Amino acid sequence: SKDKGRNNYSFYSDDLAEYAQKRADMTAALKLAIEAGDQFELYYQPKTSVLTHKIDAVEALIRWRSPNFGMVPPGQFIALAEETGLIVPIGLWVLKQGLRDFLELQREGIQLEHISLNVSNVQLRNDETVAALKDVIAASGVAPDHIELEITESYIADDVNHAIGVLQSFRDMGVGLAIDDFGTGYSSMSYLKKLPVTRIKIDKSFVDGLPGSEDSITLTNSVIALAKNFGLAITAEGVELESQLVFLEQQCCDQIQGYYFSKPLPFNELKDYCRSSLKH
Ligand code: C2E
Ligand code: CA
Ligand code: CA
Ligand code: CA
Repeated sequence: SKDKGRNNYSFYSDDLAEYAQKRADMTAALKLAIEAGDQFELYYQPKTSVLTHKIDAVEALIRWRSPNFGMVPPGQFIALAEETGLIVPIGLWVLKQGLRDFLELQREGIQLEHISLNVSNVQLRNDETVAALKDVIAASGVAPDHIELEITESYIADDVNHAIGVLQSFRDMGVGLAIDDFGTGYSSMSYLKKLPVTRIKIDKSFVDGLPGSEDSITLTNSVIALAKNFGLAITAEGVELESQLVFLEQQCCDQIQGYYFSKPLPFNELKDYCRSSLKH
């Protein structure tokens, strides 16, 4: 049993060493990608207005085409970028590129209500990184009321009072604020009333169970009632089925996002999607 223990330990440490090496390699590759500037790309997922059944907004979602690792989905590098602080320059690139693309849409006559951009907790943690975001917005040429930042519940839960101050300063500029993945564990429900936000996004994990699961129905309906009560707009994400769409429309969601309407698209395909959605 002593041997076995030792073996286990050595397996464990091999795994750890391998993991640490992979992390180090990926961190180095991310740094190079930031310098190179041409390995990141923004895809855009359409958000459909329940009222008009046309696209009324988009969410920017980053993609990384690494020469070493191939196409890396954000789920595989955003957390590392946050831990290493690299999310700060990456996030600024996302905001700049997203707003540049949105301006291009406007110039080509594609009028959307807003563009949504994901902002990491790390980017909102100190005055400098917050100021950097505001500078990009101010210099972008896009009116702030066409810009929505998606923030997470965990950011708010970390330090509610600090979060309120930061969020209010974005609201003062006219920027919209959505709470992403609402209801997934940090109970911002209890202080939603105090938060200067404009929208909540119902997480895919709730939508997945609709319209069959009683639990999903109960959770979704309470989130919707709460949001309505505070006058917030509601987006449902991860909508894949017509039955989910029908349910959410009946519950008076404002906006639907999900594969039912479209996957995230490269910018050029987004333009085609917008033109055909807005034409009819
Ligand atoms: P998220 O912000 O919750 O974005 C929604 C994710 O769900 C996207 O995955 C999207 O492709 C996926 N999705 C949307 N509709 C459906 C659907 O109907 N079915 C299924 N199965 N999936 C759907 P993606 O693009 O892989 O992004 C994953 C996460 O990575 C995002 O989750 C977000 O937390 C993060 N992320 C992506 N881009 C950025 C970024 O620019 N900055 C930051 N900080 N995080 C980002
Ligand atoms: Ca999001
Ligand atoms: Ca989300
Ligand atoms: Ca989600």
